[in-house]
Amino acid sequence: MADLESFRREVRDFLADNLPDELRVGNRPDLPEEPLRKWTAALAERGWFTPEWPVEYGGGGLDREQTAVLRGELRAVRAPVESPAGVRLLGATLLEFGTEEQKRQHLPGVARNAVRWCQGFSEPGSGSDLASLQCRADLDGDEYVINGSKIWTSGADEADWIFCLVRTDFDASKHRGISLILFEMDQPGIEVTPLELIDGTAHFCQVFFDDARARADQIVGPLHGGWTVAKRLLQHERTTDSATHGDIVGESKETIVELVKREVGMNNGVLADAVLRERLAAHEIDTRALDLTMQRAVEEVSAGHRGRDIGSVGKFRWADMMKAEHDLAMDAAGSGGLGWEGPGFEPAQLERTREWLFSRAHSIWGGTDEIQKNTIAKRVLGLPE
Ligand SMILES: Cc1cc2nc3c(=O)[nH]c(=O)nc-3n(C[C@H](O)[C@H](O)[C@H](O)COP(=O)(O)OP(=O)(O)OC[C@H]3O[C@@H](n4cnc5c(N)ncnc54)[C@H](O)[C@@H]3O)c2cc1C
Repeated sequence: MADLESFRREVRDFLADNLPDELRVGNRPDLPEEPLRKWTAALAERGWFTPEWPVEYGGGGLDREQTAVLRGELRAVRAPVESPAGVRLLGATLLEFGTEEQKRQHLPGVARNAVRWCQGFSEPGSGSDLASLQCRADLDGDEYVINGSKIWTSGADEADWIFCLVRTDFDASKHRGISLILFEMDQPGIEVTPLELIDGTAHFCQVFFDDARARADQIVGPLHGGWTVAKRLLQHERTTDSATHGDIVGESKETIVELVKREVGMNNGVLADAVLRERLAAHEIDTRALDLTMQRAVEEVSAGHRGRDIGSVGKFRWADMMKAEHDLAMDAAGSGGLGWEGPGFEPAQLERTREWLFSRAHSIWGGTDEIQKNTIAKRVLGLPE
């Protein structure tokens, strides 16, 4: 206990030295870039970007109690904490399925936030029915040659590496001939085309592979057994999506009340509306309830209890709440939330419209609402197919 208290003091000293006041506002889209970059670098340098990862892989080597103290302190000062795909999806999966060489090669770059990863799962003909994927990898000496295409690949235009699902056995049934393989994006044979979203941004891309190459020792988990690895990775995606409000990464998200105050202002009268206030309060209560539920789920998994996978429950509920949150912010903005471009609107108002449009995507990525409901029916409730 005394050790934990001295660790808490160590964290507080670190925060006093490295987290400027201007960043103590929770994760927000308008944080100043350079201070944010320096803060994230300091966190990574200390190993606290990935606090529970072993030190030999660039992590902080903290035990569960220390990690909880760190995350509690980060939340208490509303520190912004990023959680990129390399940490949430690949890192967690490599720790479980990777070889020692793979862990030593890839995890330190993720822990330093120095290597960016993208997720090559969906294909033009394979989204919800992911196991029907056609992107192929053929062995050629000690390398695989990759051909095919991936789509909706977030951040592919900025990624250094990709974790990619490919078909390696063409005779096996569709779930059996798949492998998860890692390779560099900057090589001949890979073309990346950004795709514009409904909000006008192009965060994600279509990726074309034409004889791209991957070393054969970069397959994660068993050859042809990538479906099991992919399912686990998706479990991490769904659980961390639904828990990004706080208790998993220590992130402190701006509350909906703060967001409405910041964007709409205290003085335009909207908060005098009792119905809106009631909706805001109900939303905050729902948010807290989801946080606590997902925190419990994560603690159960950390304690080795693998009985229930409630990642899908969390993802479904979280997506619904994120959309409701953006609906609320739009309602509070009134006619100020209706701008798309041109004069007559503040930049923040235009951004609000675009964020509202983007929020519709929450119930698509990481598996659509319908797919989560199917999973809940089968794996959580045990209903017959
Ligand atoms: C913002 C965003 C970022 C993304 N980032 C990535 C990424 O980085 N990497 C990546 O690989 N993918 C990514 N995706 C893709 C995402 O995983 C897919 O869009 C998703 O799995 C759905 O696949 P689909 O678009 O092919 O739709 P489809 O599978 O064609 O589904 C169309 C509709 O049919 C419904 N449907 C399909 N099958 C069933 C069924 N069995 N029962 C009931 N209803 C069904 C779906 O719910 C949906 O409403 C991203 C998507 C978005 C929106």
